[in-house]
Amino acid sequence: MLVCPVRDCGLPLTREDRRVVCPRQHSFDVARSGYINLLQPQDRKSKEPGDTKEAIAARRRLHDRGVTCPLLRGIAEIANITAEDVVLDAGCGEGFYLGSLARETRFKAHGIDISIPAIDLAARRYPECEWIVANADRGIPYADASFSLVLSITARMNPAEFRRVLKSGGRLLVAIPAPDDMIELRGAGRDRVARTIDMFASSFRLHEQRRVTTAADLEISGVQDVLASIYRPLQSRKPQAARVTFSLDLLLFR
Ligand SMILES: [Zn+2]
Repeated sequence: MLVCPVRDCGLPLTREDRRVVCPRQHSFDVARSGYINLLQPQDRKSKEPGDTKEAIAARRRLHDRGVTCPLLRGIAEIANITAEDVVLDAGCGEGFYLGSLARETRFKAHGIDISIPAIDLAARRYPECEWIVANADRGIPYADASFSLVLSITARMNPAEFRRVLKSGGRLLVAIPAPDDMIELRGAGRDRVARTIDMFASSFRLHEQRRVTTAADLEISGVQDVLASIYRPLQSRKPQAARVTFSLDLLLFR
């Protein structure tokens, strides 16, 4: 299912012992933790593209506190995943949603993200899934019709590529921050639902929509992690323990 990311190649990649290789002998190493780095030189606008190590570590600590568990449950319900599904999480970060869902339901799971530290953490915790470093904005390095479900959870979206890699009849679950997400720390956000439905209108039809919201009482360290996860520098005043809302709009397309 994986295809060569080299420009104008796109041939299937075959897994060997510690690398994957295409018929034109473009080859990519499998990292010690098990992920495959398919980033191309033109994908590296910066030396370390994507989320930083600090933001990713903060996000993982929040997931590990259990504060995002109700969001995971909401995603699991609307996605209605079965063991027969083949799932891509595009922009999977440190792998919490895909890895947790795959452990519950035992489907074939593939996650891609442009951040090496994020994918490395994902591969260490969830070795049963396939983890790829790639720039999904430019192209998803999988063959046409590879997946029955694509997840895009607070990630960048590429409607044409999502459609291409989905099998016919496949579904797409998009999760975007709701206006009240982290409202205590960053104020009310925009409602992005209408704009997102518009963005997918040419290639998808909205099937179901719901909002999932939870709140957690966080200690100072938890509040610091929320701020770090959204790149809000710590204010000069000391952060205080706070109740923080986490809220996603879930859009299921077909
Ligand atoms: Zn190639």
